[in-house]
Amino acid sequence: MRLDYHVHLEFDDYQSPIRLEKERLLRYIEQAEASGVDEIGISEHCYRFREFKPVFDPMLCHPDLPQAVAEFFRHGFIDSLDSYVDFLLAAQGEGLRIKIGLEVDFIPESAELIGQILAAYPWDYVIGSVHFLGTFPVDTSPHVGWPERDVTTTYEEYFSVWKRACASKLFDTMAHPDLLKIFGARPPVTPHRLYADAAEAAKRAGVAVEVSSAGLRKPVGEIYPGKALLSAFRQAGVPITIGSDAHCAEDVGRQLDEVRRWANEVGYTSITRFEGRRAIQVPLT
Ligand SMILES: [Zn+2]
Ligand SMILES: [Zn+2]
Repeated sequence: MRLDYHVHLEFDDYQSPIRLEKERLLRYIEQAEASGVDEIGISEHCYRFREFKPVFDPMLCHPDLPQAVAEFFRHGFIDSLDSYVDFLLAAQGEGLRIKIGLEVDFIPESAELIGQILAAYPWDYVIGSVHFLGTFPVDTSPHVGWPERDVTTTYEEYFSVWKRACASKLFDTMAHPDLLKIFGARPPVTPHRLYADAAEAAKRAGVAVEVSSAGLRKPVGEIYPGKALLSAFRQAGVPITIGSDAHCAEDVGRQLDEVRRWANEVGYTSITRFEGRRAIQVPLT
């Protein structure tokens, strides 16, 4: 079965509300069909929604917040989570093959609050993401934060937060597990111990991990996660989801053939489908 479980309706335009229009959703579904995808899951960023503003307060109120991050969030939190979920529920009600998802930043100080917000909605699945380490934005720019950081320490810090995200049990799958390689920063030696620990944490928490084509469109030019990390997940018996991280209809299902091959090469033969937060393994085809 072919799934794309990481799709945004926004078009990287944080200044205006997400266009919750049926026409737009139909274009995404048409593109999915054209690229051989059987089902898509919409997983909007949580920081689009007013309800999530308090979740980000520990970061946004911090005196060390980089200007670029403050700028990025200036237009965040403008959409309504109720309207988003109602829109997707109505689409499901009309028989459209979509899942209702959300991509949620794991802000450790706000774990309880995140749980309370999520509990009020009928998700098919929730994606967990680590885009920030404190006030450091991992994927904003190679010039923001990275020049002052030691790569090996940053990897350690990243996976420490990533493991806490797994253990929080707030999420069904973890997005782009080695996002921090986005600009090409890698430790001099492959951190196998770190990867094995991350895989063990995911296994223990019963959370899946995402294999994503988005990395192919970023400076690093490699699928998330890389082979060493994906092999560690496979060895630990962690299930996978598959996603394009599309932010426009044209990217739905993009390069997922390569993603499926990537996963198959380390031994995966099934992927995870979700329904009402219940994970079902379906063949990787
Ligand atoms: Zn993300
Ligand atoms: Zn995303």
